[in-house]
Amino acid sequence: MLLTLIIFLFAMLWFTNRFEQREDEITWKEFESLITSENVKDVVISQNKAVPTGRVELTVKGRDGDELRYLYVSDVNDIQEYLKEKNITFEMPDIPQDNWFATSILPVLITVGALLVIFFLMNRQGGGANAKAMNFGKSRARLSTDRDKKITFSQVAGLQEEKEELEEIVDFLRAPKKYIQVGARIPKGVLLVGPPGTGKTLLAKAVAGEAGVPFFTISGSDFVEMFVGVGASRVRDLFEEAKRNAPCIIFIDEIDAVARRRGTGMGGGHDEREQTLNQLLVEMDGFGVNEGIIVMAATNRVDILDPAILRPGRFDRKVMVGRPDVQGREEILRVHANGKPLSEEIDLKQIAQTTAGFTGADLENLLNEAAIIAAKEDRMFLMQEDIKKAFVKVGIGAEKKSRVISDKEKRITAFHEAGHAILFHVLPDVGPVYSVSIIPTGGAGGYTMPLPEKDEMFNTKGKMLQDITVALGGRVAEEEVFDDITTGASQDIKQATGLAKSMVTKFGMSEEIGLINYDDDSDEVFIGRDLAHTHRRYGEGVASMIDKEVKRIIDECYDRAKSIIHKYDDVLHACADLLLEKEKISREEFEALFAVSDRNKTYLEGADSHEETGVIL
Ligand code: ADP
Ligand code: MG
Ligand code: ZN
Repeated sequence: MLLTLIIFLFAMLWFTNRFEQREDEITWKEFESLITSENVKDVVISQNKAVPTGRVELTVKGRDGDELRYLYVSDVNDIQEYLKEKNITFEMPDIPQDNWFATSILPVLITVGALLVIFFLMNRQGGGANAKAMNFGKSRARLSTDRDKKITFSQVAGLQEEKEELEEIVDFLRAPKKYIQVGARIPKGVLLVGPPGTGKTLLAKAVAGEAGVPFFTISGSDFVEMFVGVGASRVRDLFEEAKRNAPCIIFIDEIDAVARRRGTGMGGGHDEREQTLNQLLVEMDGFGVNEGIIVMAATNRVDILDPAILRPGRFDRKVMVGRPDVQGREEILRVHANGKPLSEEIDLKQIAQTTAGFTGADLENLLNEAAIIAAKEDRMFLMQEDIKKAFVKVGIGAEKKSRVISDKEKRITAFHEAGHAILFHVLPDVGPVYSVSIIPTGGAGGYTMPLPEKDEMFNTKGKMLQDITVALGGRVAEEEVFDDITTGASQDIKQATGLAKSMVTKFGMSEEIGLINYDDDSDEVFIGRDLAHTHRRYGEGVASMIDKEVKRIIDECYDRAKSIIHKYDDVLHACADLLLEKEKISREEFEALFAVSDRNKTYLEGADSHEETGVIL
């Protein structure tokens, strides 16, 4: 097909040349004899001044009339000198330069464009099979191997833990033999999970850069195309390409676009995305362990991913990439301040402190805006004032995403989270605390994360009461320190109430109510049922008794939270201060606070479970 096109083009060029060949073209010899025929009065040389070489139009004015001739010359001055020599007058008006593009390239381009459109349309009608023949299925992966733009871990600021987690993958890619010899199994797939702009793509590139291996990158949305079957064939091509280049990294950005939970699509179970995902799973299962291909993927929505993708032998390694803490932000600012001369007055540490919740991309953007402002004012360096202006621009522009947090809000959040954390730690059946953070996430001001729960078949009454107590701990801590209370605990209160209510109406954990299920929202969803029968299955008397019981549980848990928080008042303050300083603290740092506290941390440990709950039901 391509050959036809080429032949066609050559034919066209040949024809256009034919047309330009005219009979009135003369050689220098003929020109000389024309001039020396002594019939000539005057010659008009039409020539483009800019181009002295080429085809010159000569209007030879003779006694018998004008003759138009064309002559090829290497220098138009030759003609002038020759005419002077022969004492023949001449004039030389300039003619505009031929637009070479318009006269020769443009027609060709138009023809080629039209042909392509025709072929494309023909293929669309042909459908899937032809589409494949036209290579639409070829993987769109871009291979980035340019060595000088190599990204290394040093360009990824903060994210210390994340880098450490990826270090072994780098090492494996550098020297796979070492691992194969001792029979170690290296993960095939690594899933980077975190909000947008936190450096997931950067991290993946840095892994390739550090290991010095090729990096194939493709975005999940590239797989999802209008042609049926294209996504799957793209996956196939991508892995073939990777196998030829192993060891290497395949990076699938926005993997949620293809790997969303299957079977939830509206248009039946066999849509395009599903085929693509299946192909991806087949490919990942298909290459052996230690073949030297590491598939990395990024998403900010791990909850919507198909669980199949997280099975062993697929993406069995998860790396959480969170928003940077204050130190991380300072490091990121340093990386991006590189190459931007800063005036003395700029304090990156202080900027880091005022940008809680900003991601790496936000910070990069901030400095870039500041640099633009400086450049606009023709300055060679950035000033604090530029940063301030840039701050307003990005901080307010992206208000929802990364609101600038006031110091007061930050302080309240710190005490709130410290309150949760202390209760997690002190109460025996919950916790331990894995990390405490006041880095704002999408909705919440902060979070306290207990270690992943053990798989327990039953929840006990004691544990449920402790869960309620922990949930109330945030509000209790706020009250302990501030005169006023905030709305920040509404989610906690909702959770506590929900738990207390199910204890009473569902699990028969209240002696007052007894072993009767009064739970009115059954787990089975029955469309229309809730609408038709909004009335409860029990009378007003029972309802008020339930409410009273729920309130009693909440009140007693609240009192308990209050007394514990009060007892650990020094830890509460120390924890809040540390949080304000570092924004995120680890389990070790948190537990060290208790060691410093002179109090006996075995407050309730070992006590009888019924007694220690302090609530009599
Ligand atoms: P993600 O893939 O998580 O959405 P990116 O890796 O694309 O985020 O990050 C976008 C940009 O933000 C990067 O190109 C970089 O300039 C900046 N950035 C993000 N995180 C960091 C970091 N930890 N260190 C340095 N720069 C960062
Ligand atoms: Mg990205
Ligand atoms: Zn809370």
